[in-house]
Amino acid sequence: MMHARDFTASGVATHKDAGQLLDQFCARFAEHVTITRSDAGARLETVIGSADIAVSDDRLDIKLRCPTAAMLFTIRSMVVENLFELSTGNALDLNWADGPQPSTIPNFREISVVDAYDITPHMRRVVVATDDARHFVEGGLHVRLLIPPKGREPVWPHTEPDGRIHWPKGEDELTLRAYTIRNIDLARSQMDIDFVVHEGDNVPGATWAMTARPGDRAGLIGPGGGGVPAARKLILAGDETALPAIARIAAAMPADADLRVFLEVANKEEEQPLISSTSMNLTWLHRNDAPAGTTDTLERIMRDLVPAADPETYIWAACEQKQARAIRTFVKTEIAREPGSFSIAAYWQRC
Ligand SMILES: Cc1cc2nc3c(=O)[nH]c(=O)nc-3n(C[C@H](O)[C@H](O)[C@H](O)COP(=O)(O)OP(=O)(O)OC[C@H]3O[C@@H](n4cnc5c(N)ncnc54)[C@H](O)[C@@H]3O)c2cc1C
Repeated sequence: MMHARDFTASGVATHKDAGQLLDQFCARFAEHVTITRSDAGARLETVIGSADIAVSDDRLDIKLRCPTAAMLFTIRSMVVENLFELSTGNALDLNWADGPQPSTIPNFREISVVDAYDITPHMRRVVVATDDARHFVEGGLHVRLLIPPKGREPVWPHTEPDGRIHWPKGEDELTLRAYTIRNIDLARSQMDIDFVVHEGDNVPGATWAMTARPGDRAGLIGPGGGGVPAARKLILAGDETALPAIARIAAAMPADADLRVFLEVANKEEEQPLISSTSMNLTWLHRNDAPAGTTDTLERIMRDLVPAADPETYIWAACEQKQARAIRTFVKTEIAREPGSFSIAAYWQRC
């Protein structure tokens, strides 16, 4: 895709087993991005940009290209963090040609809680204020929520010259969870994040939402992850965790879009109105007594609908990991849908 301006970065990583490191790196991302391997190395294409990695002897030459500076930061962090993680035991030296990184994370913003209330029995909305709501409009629907320890002055992360993020440790350690920005109110510089209030003894994300009080501070890194698909015909399927993303995609669709939505929720009380300019075909699927992440309803619907859908129909699904894997195997492997015509994501893992 051509962009008015591309943001690029190039770096060199040296490592004793550079070839093996690249193999492991590609294996880790095989499920999530498009990877083209060659004798010279690998090309990774993601929704936010590309990484070309050439391998020779003990070095990896890395070239990143993205449409925005924030996306470049995200992809660089992703490459760097994973290379360091995979190279444990074997020293990795990594230098970027464009000099030291800025010490602050460009897509980090501090937020403070304005309000919190239940929108259904198991979905709680937290309204947060930021001095830069416009920042969250473009570049993806999702954020990483950085939850500081209760009762302490938050210490936020910063970047190291090799591109790694330095995360506070010990008493200042942050808890990270992925969420979706449900609504953005530019006039008030506020945003809504809707949290599933789920069971579990240690559930930092859900607990943060349940205990959020006006003035509480937290951090957001993003936006990132998937955005609104460019298609006019879509099948969207997901559970409660995907409801905020599906609601935003539906709201962004033009009047002539053809939208079929399948939302699996606990019961009728968890249904929410979805707003769209198009007359979407919306089906609520009730789990009734079954716990979240234990049904195969979404997979069965995909098996019924997707083979008959025309090639222009974009398939989007997000749900529990096991369900998402079953849907991805069906769409990607069993019926071999064209790459780029679907996005199937695990939003949480049932343990
Ligand atoms: C891109 C993306 C966007 C997301 N957007 C949202 C969003 O807008 N709203 C939202 O609520 N979630 C969203 N999620 C899912 C959310 O990140 C996970 O549910 C997360 O695990 C919640 O963290 P926690 O600290 O509450 O629980 P964790 O500490 O992660 O897990 C603790 C226990 O709770 C269980 N658990 C976790 N989530 C659920 C659940 N939903 N239902 C039942 N049991 C669960 C786990 O299996 C585990 O046993 C999103 C995830 C991704 C990847």
